[in-house]
Amino acid sequence: MKSLQKSCALGLDDDRNLSKNIPNMDIEESVDDFIIERRKSIFLNSANKSMDFNCETNSVAGSVSQRACVYCGARVVLNPITDAYHIVHGPIGCASYTWDIRGSLSSSAEVYRNSFSTDLGEKDVIFGGEKKLTGAIDEIVEKFSPKLIFVYSTCIVGIIGDDVDAVCQKAEEKYNIRVISVKSPGFAGNKSTGYKMGCNAIMELMDKSCGHRDTNSINYLGDFNLAGEAWIIRNYLQKLGIKINSTLTGDSSYESIKKAPSAKLNIVQCAGSMSYLAKRMREAFGIPFIKVSFYGLADIKRSIYDIANFLNDESIMEKAFDFVSNKEKETKQNLEIYKKRLDGKKAAIFVGGGFKAISLIKQFKELGMQTVMVGTQTGKKDEYETIRDISDEGTIILDDANPVELENFMLEKGADILVGGVKERPLAYKLGVAFCDHNHERKHALCGYEGAINFAKEIDLSINSSVWNYIRKERGD
Ligand code: SF4
Repeated sequence: MKSLQKSCALGLDDDRNLSKNIPNMDIEESVDDFIIERRKSIFLNSANKSMDFNCETNSVAGSVSQRACVYCGARVVLNPITDAYHIVHGPIGCASYTWDIRGSLSSSAEVYRNSFSTDLGEKDVIFGGEKKLTGAIDEIVEKFSPKLIFVYSTCIVGIIGDDVDAVCQKAEEKYNIRVISVKSPGFAGNKSTGYKMGCNAIMELMDKSCGHRDTNSINYLGDFNLAGEAWIIRNYLQKLGIKINSTLTGDSSYESIKKAPSAKLNIVQCAGSMSYLAKRMREAFGIPFIKVSFYGLADIKRSIYDIANFLNDESIMEKAFDFVSNKEKETKQNLEIYKKRLDGKKAAIFVGGGFKAISLIKQFKELGMQTVMVGTQTGKKDEYETIRDISDEGTIILDDANPVELENFMLEKGADILVGGVKERPLAYKLGVAFCDHNHERKHALCGYEGAINFAKEIDLSINSSVWNYIRKERGD
């Protein structure tokens, strides 16, 4: 493998903190740049080894994790609610998160495209920011007459101890609207904690008295309608005779969330962010849930059949069978051209949740490609076990990685492309490796049959671009 300079970004140049002195290190050749505490979160897949793997924990200090903070996790979940106002109680920097950097689309309100901030400064940190927050809520009510406001607590608010709950409660009483406090100081856990805070806020909006179970009506959880993806799936299900009652939270609204308890079933696409909500809804309203994934042909088929089986309706099952057979046949024909161009190429994956990573490994297999590295920000133990089972011997599996690890493994394993999000893109490009954006910033759909073709096309365009030859030549490879 090419040696990479030991990263100053690690902030740890003391050799005691690096794993090169550890005997029996499993991950050959790459040990120099790892922090000791990260060792159990990196696994070299081997049939002869048990998977004693560390995940679902807070990031290691000094590791410069690729993960986002608690506030960001909460915002991921709540931002697509199209008619909600988001007040970020904190310094202006935290408020940079807007619709602009997330591709969720709306069929009605456009309010969610804005971000509001209390813009806390030094004086507020000393004397408290509650007054400013009250002023911000008053101003939004006066100017926009909102029905729903979320107030996010950021790091500094967690430190100075503003009573955000009390401010929100007073505003609810004063204006008779919903003002929900989202406890999300960045340091109060990890991105998964933020997902939970977002889901707790959603639970507060649901109408507890809405007990009627609509036949063949389901809620679609964990789809944020990136590039209109929720619409693609809604369209599929409509063709089978299944009605989507509420999407959470892509293209949703205060009113649509209120009626979510009336569905018969919850299907969960982004398991990392929404399994918690599905469990809470099962406890509160008795709605069962199943995990689905509409990425890649194998998982689309499994998901549609699972939903049809659950609803146990002859006509839906028949329609599902015909729909999948026709769509799959047509899509496979369209994928042939890309398969020829991608056969034998190697992929590296670093995405938010484990369920998406599992689908991507299968999707690369469908294209004749091999996954050589796979990691996630918030994967669960059972998801990593599945990843281990479906990936090849020698695949690197890692949780909550940092840039140095990702760069080292991409080079060591000879990855031709990295699939990730905005923070991973520069890592790939710096190394002269192709990249595919599979996160919230993208502007084209990757789910469903249309998405499977878009995905193959993008992977082909990126991997087979002549720019990489030019870079290799310039580097003298
Ligand atoms: S870590 Fe803290 S300061 Fe940074 S974006 Fe998150 S809440 Fe804001």
